[in-house]
Amino acid sequence: MKTIQHWIDGSPAPGAGPRTAPVFNPATGQEQARVALGGSADVDAAVTAAARASLEWSESSLTRRTQVMFAFRQLLVEHEEELGRIISAEHGKTVDDARGEIVRGREVVEFACGLGEVLKGGFSDQVSRGVDVHDFRQPLGVVAGITPFNFPAMVPLWMHPVAIATGNTFLLKPSERDPSAANFVAELYRRAGLPDGVFNVVHGDKEAVDAILGHPGIEAVSFVGSTPIATYVHETATRTGKRVQALGGAKNHAVVLPDADLEFAADHITAGAYGSAGERCMAVSVAVAVGTSADGLVEALERKAREVKVGPGDAPGTDMGPLVTQAARERVENAVGTAAAQGATVVVDGRGLKLDGHPECAAGFFTGPSLLDHVTAGMDAYREELFGPVLAVVRVDTLDKAIDLINANPYGNGTALFTGSGEAARRFQRRVRVGMIGVNVPVPVPMSYYSFGGWKDSLIGDSPIHGPEGIRFYTRPKVVTSRWPQPAQQDTAGFTFPTSH
Ligand code: NAD
Repeated sequence: MKTIQHWIDGSPAPGAGPRTAPVFNPATGQEQARVALGGSADVDAAVTAAARASLEWSESSLTRRTQVMFAFRQLLVEHEEELGRIISAEHGKTVDDARGEIVRGREVVEFACGLGEVLKGGFSDQVSRGVDVHDFRQPLGVVAGITPFNFPAMVPLWMHPVAIATGNTFLLKPSERDPSAANFVAELYRRAGLPDGVFNVVHGDKEAVDAILGHPGIEAVSFVGSTPIATYVHETATRTGKRVQALGGAKNHAVVLPDADLEFAADHITAGAYGSAGERCMAVSVAVAVGTSADGLVEALERKAREVKVGPGDAPGTDMGPLVTQAARERVENAVGTAAAQGATVVVDGRGLKLDGHPECAAGFFTGPSLLDHVTAGMDAYREELFGPVLAVVRVDTLDKAIDLINANPYGNGTALFTGSGEAARRFQRRVRVGMIGVNVPVPVPMSYYSFGGWKDSLIGDSPIHGPEGIRFYTRPKVVTSRWPQPAQQDTAGFTFPTSH
């Protein structure tokens, strides 16, 4: 069976140790490969290569770095279908959905192609007589990214184009559940002309993560994943003196007001809840039905949930693929049972789904869409991040009560409001304690030239990802105060603290 290797210093590298983990095809339930699980020796080899490459790459011109980004972007366009199939085969999402994540990730490369514009510093002429001030930003050195299974291309793409374009060298530790996309991207970078050692991949689990967090040669760590691990990574890497950005889990609410177009809202909420089998950090997991919208909304959501076509991700016409692992399926189906036991109404029950017409998928990790009504804030189905195709409907009387509900939730990644009222939309976006907000847009993922990040338990620390915040995160500023005196105009030095004159 094939073993997926690390990628160090421009080529595949076998693991220094014997540990490997299975990589499944979630649609068939079959093990299709093994992935090397790295440890401190592998991380050290990657950091050594990255540090060596950093000497030249950090000195390369903006033109050279953007040329590599333009070439890399073009290769992502040409290989979108192939990369989409690689993702689908290990994650389970549909090929079209995988292509969507590649497109959104590619937008960050496009942002990095404009590096010459976004990395401009400031200049202040004549701050004192004969004295000017300017500032500029320099790369940190070797930086690392630790990423989740649910977007094996897009989430790393939130990080490495910005880090590399600003002159850093990069070590990626992708999810061990769908590792192949990382190696494919490494090969595309090589073909784009990126020097060996600038982009490296070490596969693995906690052992590799701990080796990264403790390595003195790594200046900064970007993490995206669940809140408990984000907290651990933030605390551990901060303690070892690294700069850290750590994005965590989510529970995203879509609020529907009585004046909304219910068909439109139900259509978009259904896609936002069950797309990628609910395994998106911006998935809609709670629909908040306000006042008289409730019965009509639940009727439309039920109708649309029953229309979702579940199947293997590479079959034409599939809306929703399997979950990533057998354990994920069991967790999600148990949560539906617990919701029923705690008093929720199971309007659509996705448990125990049997796929028609796909005998090869009999052992796949499928569950169907589930819709729960009359969910309350105390129920597990509301409190926990289920990360599966389960939509919970909570009924409230007013918009203000919906805002209070969202603000009391520990997560604050994304939220959406469906309404025809500008006043309600303005009140919602100003008062809600959430980082990314959609108005009649269910999955409001910001464009790459804005930054991505939630509030509260959805982002540990204070650094959102990509866009202007990405430039700030991967560079540190210098401010230069300079004077070029003419011999006849020498200022005399004074012993008091310097002030302008
Ligand atoms: P995860 O937290 O289990 O894993 C993320 C990364 O951490 C992986 O690389 C994994 O190998 C590593 N890891 C896992 N356990 C670890 C441990 N004990 N110690 C050290 N490292 C460990 O997350 P996941 O299941 O891969 O992804 C789903 C989660 O990611 C969800 O909570 C989802 O909301 C979140 N997510 C958040 C965003 C966001 O932008 N906020 C985006 C995507 C996913």
